[in-house]
This record gives sequence, C-alpha cells and structure tokens, in this order.
Amino acid sequence: MSSPATLFIDGAWVPASDGGTRDIRCPADGTLVGTVSEATTEDVQLAIAAARRAFDAGRWPGLAAAERGDALLKVASALEARKDEFARAESLDTGKRLVESEIDMDDIANCFRYFGKLAGQDAGRLVDAGNSNVVSRIAYEPVGVCGLIAPWNYPLLQAAWKVAPALAAGNTFVLKPSELTPHTAILLMDVLAQVGVPDGVANLVLGAGPVAGAPLSEHPDVDLVSFTGGLATGTRVAAAAAATVKKVALELGGKNPNVVFADADFDAALDNALNAAFVHSGQVCSAGSRLIVEESIHDAFVDALVRRAQSIRLGGPFDPEAEAGPLISAGHRDKVSAYVQRGLDEGAVLRCGGAWGDGELAEGYYYLPTVLDEVKSGMSVVIEEGFGPIVTVETFRTEDDAVFIANDTAYGLAGAVWTQDAGKAQRVAAKLRHGTVWINDYHPYLPQAEWGGFGRSGVGRELGPSGLAEYQEAKHIYQNLQPAVTGWFPTHER
Ligand code: NAD
Repeated sequence: MSSPATLFIDGAWVPASDGGTRDIRCPADGTLVGTVSEATTEDVQLAIAAARRAFDAGRWPGLAAAERGDALLKVASALEARKDEFARAESLDTGKRLVESEIDMDDIANCFRYFGKLAGQDAGRLVDAGNSNVVSRIAYEPVGVCGLIAPWNYPLLQAAWKVAPALAAGNTFVLKPSELTPHTAILLMDVLAQVGVPDGVANLVLGAGPVAGAPLSEHPDVDLVSFTGGLATGTRVAAAAAATVKKVALELGGKNPNVVFADADFDAALDNALNAAFVHSGQVCSAGSRLIVEESIHDAFVDALVRRAQSIRLGGPFDPEAEAGPLISAGHRDKVSAYVQRGLDEGAVLRCGGAWGDGELAEGYYYLPTVLDEVKSGMSVVIEEGFGPIVTVETFRTEDDAVFIANDTAYGLAGAVWTQDAGKAQRVAAKLRHGTVWINDYHPYLPQAEWGGFGRSGVGRELGPSGLAEYQEAKHIYQNLQPAVTGWFPTHER
C-alpha cells in the first residue's frame, strides 16, 4: 500500500519523507478512522521554507487587506456548504457528539467571517507629531511566518482562531494540529487551496509534538509561534521560542471557578453548573471544574447536581441518546483516573462517578461524570487541571471569601458568578482575575470578544481585534516634509 499524502506543503499534498504514517482511531469504540502521514523534522523544515518563500517573495502579504478578507469570507461559505463532512470528521477523531461538532463548525465559519470582515477595516493610524512639517503614521504589517500548534479537544476551532487572523493580517503559516485529531485540518487545507490562497501560504504538518511541533518554536525562520495546549508543553514552547526571540502567544489550561451565591436562580445555576463541568466530558479549557457554592445552599445544590450528573447518558458521536462522549484516549483516561484517586487520597469525598464506563461503554474511553465534595485549598484536584468530567466543590460564607477562593489559582482563564443581585455580580466580576467572566451564564464566547488567560492560563489574546493584532507588527513611519540640516554636530574645518 502506498503512503497517504496528507502533509500540505507549498500547495501540494505529499507523504512523509520517510513514508511514516499514523492510524487515527475513534475514541468512542476504537474503530479505525483513517491513516495519515507522520511528518519528519525534515518535512517540517520544508514546510517552514515554503512559508518563508511565500512570505518574502509571494503576493499574499502585499495584497489589499480587503482582498485577503474576501478569501476568508469564501472559506466561511465553503465550511457551511461542507458542514456535514467536517462535523463528521471532527466527531470521528474526537468522539464528541455530532451535534457538538456541528455547533463547532458554525462557530468556525463565524470566526472566518469575523476576521474576513475585520481584515480591511483598519488602515493604520495617523499620529499627531506636534510638527506641521511631519507626517507620522502607524502601519500594521504581518509578522511573517507563523507556527500554529493546536490541541485535540476543539481541533478545528482552536486552529481556526489562529489560521483566520494569521491570514487576515497577511502572514504565512505552518499548522500542526494534535496528532490525535488531524482530519479536519486536512479538510481545511483543501478549502484554503480552493478559495485561492496561494501556494506556500498555508502549510500543514502532522505528527507528534516533539518531532512535528518543536521545530515551529525553535526554527529561526519562524517569526511567531501561537500555541494552544497544556501548561507543561506551553512552557517548553515558550522557552524554545525565546532563543530566537519569536513573538509568542499561549492559550493554556484553566482551573475555572463557578461561583454560586445563595440568591442565584437555583435551577438556572444548577443546569449551567452541569454544563460548565460536563460538556465534552470536561475536556474544555474553560470547564467550570471548581464549583464554589455559598454554604447555606451547599446541601440542596450539590445533592441536585449529583442526581443530574448521575443521569447523564454517555455514548458515541452518532448515538442520538448520548449526552456526553468519551475521553480522547486510553492514556488520558488513565490520567483522569489517577487525578481523581489523588483527590480521594487527599480527603475529597466522592459523591458520584470516579469510575470508567462499563458494559457497552467499555469499548471506548468513557469516564463517569464525577463530583468531588468537601475539597480544600491546597489539594491537587483544586490546583491542577483535570481535563475530564470532574467537578470539585468548595463553600464560602461571604462575598470576599468567594472572590478569594475563586482567585486562589495560578491559572486565570475563565469563571462565572451566579446571583440575582446586579451590584454583587458586577463587584465580583471586577475582582475575578480571569480572562473571561460570565454573569449568570457559563461557556458562551463571541468571535468579536477577546479570549485568553491571566496568570498561567497564557499570554496574549485570541479573537476580537486583539486576536488580529497578535499577528501584526506595528510600524511607525515618520516623514519629514521639510528636510534640513540639524546642526547637532557642527562642521569642523580641519
Ligand atoms: P498538549 O500540550 O499535550 O498538546 C498541544 C499541542 O502541542 C499538540 O498539537 C501537541 O502535539 C503539541 N506538542 C506537544 N509537545 C510539543 C513540543 N515539545 N513542541 C511543540 N508542540 C508540542 O495539549 P493537549 O493535551 O492537546 O490539549 C489539552 C490542553 O489544552 C489542556 O491543558 C487545555 O486546557 C488546553 N487548551 C487551552 C485552550 C485555551 O483556549 N486556553 C483551549 C483548548 C485547550
């Protein structure tokens, strides 16, 4: 059998230079989804070289920004036209329910549409130099060659948050999706080629992080690296990028507080606490994995949460009865199991879950929705990200306590506050040290609103105008309209 050609380098589909491949299996039941190329370091270097040539000598960076924007609008339309195919591919790779992948595809089309429209809107800024003989302006230019590294939980969505603004700003890129979930990135390259993105502008390498990803943070010809993934990997990427002083954007994990006051709408807060923790089986960077509930309603709230969590139906992507899916891999399920066990060893009280799915679920990497009650600050399950269907419960008595507990984390990605007291909601929101704060809601985000983390949740912002600015250099152009001798150094006759 010939090797699959699923690396996209300089406008061509090519196999790995050593013929290497990887089988992709659906985490819901282990069935083979496809076999893709596994890039070597040399393949990644070829991709970087293609992106470098396309940036230095190609037409994409110099196109009118609105023209690049038009290409992105076409990508949005193509994604909508091929939504079923994309959603199916995403569900097979991740195991997530088809309906969730369909929502992701709508969000991705909206992301391309947003940056497509934003692209031509800002022609820079005139600066008042305080001198009528000077024209001073700020021009926004592309950064250059971008290395884009994405995770497996929202494979195409996280890639789109990088690809769309990178293209809008006039950059070229090499994208490396997670080795576990490559298929929608392959489909996206097909769409980019179809809408006329020139050869070498968009390149795709597939494979394991240390081989296919690391060169993107190390190579001197890469000007920017944008990474979404775990804290430990992000730290490595940033350290590697420092050697060549690349621009670095990091979207890392979270340990996100969901603060429920006693005066909250009980049913809405309960329902959303469930969504916050268990959507996509908790494999969400902004998952509401820390429930921080006012002491007076703890028993009623947590009892109800446990009942609801126990009734969540797990199942594969195409099971119409399923409400949540499997974890991404056997390795990840082992990590989640060990994490819960550590919490129990440290004194957490298991209220439900804490086990693998059995029966029909035993074919996939299922883990039952888990509630760990009576956790205390300092326990590993409060400090570390679990990235599974696990919610820990802490209690508070005063507003100040609630804020203190919610901010007692090295992360700072997202959090929510539930109360019907508008003043309290605003006071608490203002004090939370997290990049997104929801009031009486959980999880919504908007392409036009910045997304990113305080603290160890990351550096920089995706989405919104700042999401485009990440991919731009600001250049000051200063023109003297009346050149003259300065006289600073007098002419000395010798
Ligand atoms: P990960 O860190 O294991 O991998 C992320 C990507 O980095 C993958 O493509 C991987 O192959 C690559 N990689 C691994 N080692 C590398 C290296 N040495 N150099 C360069 N690239 C390397 O993360 P994951 O398990 O795929 O994703 C889960 C993590 O992502 C969670 O911590 C989650 O919170 C985080 N996440 C954050 C956000 C956000 O917006 N902040 C969004 C989604 C996921």
